[in-house]
Amino acid sequence: MHMLPPPAEVSPELHTLLMDRERMLDSLLNHLGGMVYCCLYDAYWTMIFVSQGCLQLTGYAPGDLLYNRKVCFEQLTLEEDRERVRTRIEESLRTGEHYEVEYRIRHADGSVRWVLERGAPLFNEAGEVQALEGFIEDITRRKQSEQAALQAEARYRSIFENAIEGIYQTTPDGQYLNFNPALARIYGYDSVEELKSAITDIQKQLYVDPGKRGEFIRLMSQFGQVTNFEAQVYRKNGDIIWITENAREVRDEAGKLLFYEGTVEDITARKNYEQQIEYQATHDSLTGLPNRTLLADRLQQYISLADRHGGKLAVAFLDLDQFKLINDSMGHHAGDQLLLTMAERLTSCVRECDTVVRLGGDEFVLLFPNLRNVADISGSMHRILAAVSEPCLIDGREFVVSCSIGISVYPEDGRDPNTLLKHADTAMYKAKQDGRNNFQFYTRELNAVLMERLDIESRLRNALDNQEFLLHYQPKIDLLTGRICGAEALIRWQPPGKPMVSPASFIPIAEETGIIEQIGQWVLETACDWAKQLGSQWGQSLPVAVNVSQRQFRRGGLVKMVQAVLKQTGLDPACLELEITESMLVHDTAHFIRVLNDLKAIGVKLAIDDFGTGYSSMAYLKDFPVDRLKIDRTFVDSLETTPAKGAILKAIVALGHSLGMRVVAEGVETAYQQAYLHGIGCDEIQGYHLSKPLPKEAFEALLKR
Ligand code: C2E
Ligand code: MG
Ligand code: MG
Repeated sequence: MHMLPPPAEVSPELHTLLMDRERMLDSLLNHLGGMVYCCLYDAYWTMIFVSQGCLQLTGYAPGDLLYNRKVCFEQLTLEEDRERVRTRIEESLRTGEHYEVEYRIRHADGSVRWVLERGAPLFNEAGEVQALEGFIEDITRRKQSEQAALQAEARYRSIFENAIEGIYQTTPDGQYLNFNPALARIYGYDSVEELKSAITDIQKQLYVDPGKRGEFIRLMSQFGQVTNFEAQVYRKNGDIIWITENAREVRDEAGKLLFYEGTVEDITARKNYEQQIEYQATHDSLTGLPNRTLLADRLQQYISLADRHGGKLAVAFLDLDQFKLINDSMGHHAGDQLLLTMAERLTSCVRECDTVVRLGGDEFVLLFPNLRNVADISGSMHRILAAVSEPCLIDGREFVVSCSIGISVYPEDGRDPNTLLKHADTAMYKAKQDGRNNFQFYTRELNAVLMERLDIESRLRNALDNQEFLLHYQPKIDLLTGRICGAEALIRWQPPGKPMVSPASFIPIAEETGIIEQIGQWVLETACDWAKQLGSQWGQSLPVAVNVSQRQFRRGGLVKMVQAVLKQTGLDPACLELEITESMLVHDTAHFIRVLNDLKAIGVKLAIDDFGTGYSSMAYLKDFPVDRLKIDRTFVDSLETTPAKGAILKAIVALGHSLGMRVVAEGVETAYQQAYLHGIGCDEIQGYHLSKPLPKEAFEALLKR
């Protein structure tokens, strides 16, 4: 219970003063923050009473306003608002009710103020309006803040409505509460309403992967927000687009989750671009096959797979045997066509789960994961060899290429991608050395072979400067006269303190590395110089034959070089014979015939070496301005025990003669072979039976005998 204070003593005088109603009213009226008024219902709102608040409200003293002495209230009211104020008041006159109206007045200081007027009409007994009385207060400040709020609202609404990003609020269970037109547009709907009625379950209807919504909610509950949340969604027409979302939770003060609020951006173009870039970075632009970058990934992936499941992985390194030749002689267009065809063939030969990679140039790598037995891939290899060597039609011409394949196996041959690739490459070299068009598995011994090759390559680069090369000469005899009718210059490499290296093992390397061009020139100079000197010493010229490699032939400038060497040594051009192998003639015959004719024009002789081993078309043979056919020694070798070879020899001799060429047989090792060749009309022979290739002094001694 409250204890009430004892009543205060109030004197009778004070009581009278306090109870003076007029004084009370005056005091109230004059302290109110506004103006109490009483006015006539006329065109001026003529004020017949205003309280002291008038001055603060209007800037005029009450006396100025009363009876319109200086201004009338109608004048103070802003012109645009007068009509509305009057209408509002007239309405209440009709009903006799209170009125309330907001409008603007012009303050004596010129500023505009918002006011709220509340009042009621006074009627006489006849029910006629006598006056109006009421209260007007300044509400400018409230109005300003209201307007600011409205403007702010309008601004935000405009951002919401006109944003390029989709903006939304959704319930946690996947229904839209609110979203902007951009969201509808991104999702392919014509209007906000259409989207609202179409999507009632975001998880099921929107996301391509329904699991995405779960991920979204998980992130939300974990972090209270998601940033750059990328997902694929369906548009209205079923198209799939990529979007990114940034969203947050909105909770009430008690922490209860109200909704999610976020933005959506269509990033399909960017994603497509990224995918395209990624594709380009990981695929070969010509064939569309995975490239070196992807190879590294896959290889690592397959290795892990093999570790987990215990299977084996085979890595096959494949090189097209004749690609460089075709590419150089037929042009890049033909080369590209060939690669495209080969890429298709390779892909069609392997299983779905295997990978075909183009490493660059004419090199491919095939990955065979998941093998139970390594022998299983032999089948694939035979299929590939057969498919690659099918004739290939390019620009109306048929080409036949083959390939050499080397295989390494995980885990036996290497435990990491680099080693596996290196060893497959090594095995591929073995396949090349074994005559191409075959496949080889990596073995430890092979590595030694490769090391030797690398060793030869590096030593070869200095061999010319160090004068490690020399020429041996092998005589040819004319079977009719029995006399030496020429010599073939054969290069020898004598590295200091090491055994002599056979040209068969370094010429191909010199070819590949390009060193052959300098070597070739040296051979030509040395052989021509020797032949010239021999001629002057012996008093009779002896033709010398020089082997010209493919690469020298393909590069322009051979004719000029030969011309220069002849001039420099003074050798009669008729005493120089250039030997070209038959396989060089297979591609771009037009170019070759041109060069051959240019060489003929200088006066040098031409011979086709190793005839019968290449694939030269008989149809073209007649177009070659060639003086000699040199039958490859494989047709002479073991002639005694293989009668079929005799028939072939006969045919070649007849063919050569019918084309007006002289025919030479190489590799004659026995008297029987010599006699047989003599018997079938072969013109000349060369071989161990007569003499091995000899150092020049020994050759000169032989010549004297
Ligand atoms: P090729 O032009 O067909 O030379 C003939 C090869 O057969 C020579 O081997 C020669 O020693 C060998 N030979 C000769 N008679 C007999 C025989 O009765 N029995 C056997 N089994 N072999 C015989 P070589 O000197 O080892 O040369 C091998 C190949 O190297 C040559 O084949 C030629 O293609 C290439 N070569 C040699 N010297 C040069 C050169 O200076 N430049 C170019 N580009 N290639 C060369
Ligand atoms: Mg030769
Ligand atoms: Mg030969």
